[in-house]
Amino acid sequence: MVQIYENAVNDIIMAGNRLDGQNFAPATSGNYSIRVGDNEMAITVSGVHKGQLEPRHIMRADLDGNSLDGKTPSAETLLHCLIYKLCPDINAVLHTHSVACSVLTKVMANARELVLSGYEMLKAYPNITTHDIVVSLPIFENTQDMIELSSLVNDYLKEFPKTPAFLIRCHGVYGWGADMNEAMRVIEATETLMSIEVNIKQIGNKI
Ligand SMILES: [Zn+2]
Repeated sequence: MVQIYENAVNDIIMAGNRLDGQNFAPATSGNYSIRVGDNEMAITVSGVHKGQLEPRHIMRADLDGNSLDGKTPSAETLLHCLIYKLCPDINAVLHTHSVACSVLTKVMANARELVLSGYEMLKAYPNITTHDIVVSLPIFENTQDMIELSSLVNDYLKEFPKTPAFLIRCHGVYGWGADMNEAMRVIEATETLMSIEVNIKQIGNKI
């Protein structure tokens, strides 16, 4: 158990360095977690810069969001909890804030989903083997009420359990995977696809 937790801490620190290096974690934003037991996860504490993570910035929490070691979890810990509870095969969750996500979801002001098709990058999502497919990522409205948002996400994922990620308007992305490598692939693919969509909209406005 100790080794599982220490491995999770190392993976989370590496994720922070990698995502910060791509400007997906400005100003202490985002949070990352790994499932480490039946009812336990390792997750970043509130308010630290994800490019400067140290082991003391990672904490133990149960899957109801309660601290197990006295450290303070982020308000968004509840979203990690619900993904782990709903999806027993998911063992890592990443949440990023990016310019592309905020620009795209602001421009798409009335959209409830981002519909992606035709991109080779879609093959980065689990169980997708072709570009010739349509993937919809839900867009939820931003709120500080994490209980309300968790309820909306819970209802959506129960109806569409194969969803690889979701967006929160003018805020960020949640992506997950069977392990940290898969979660990282999902997040980087989603960030790349959002950047492509932003570029397409910019070109469209000039033509
Ligand atoms: Zn956030």
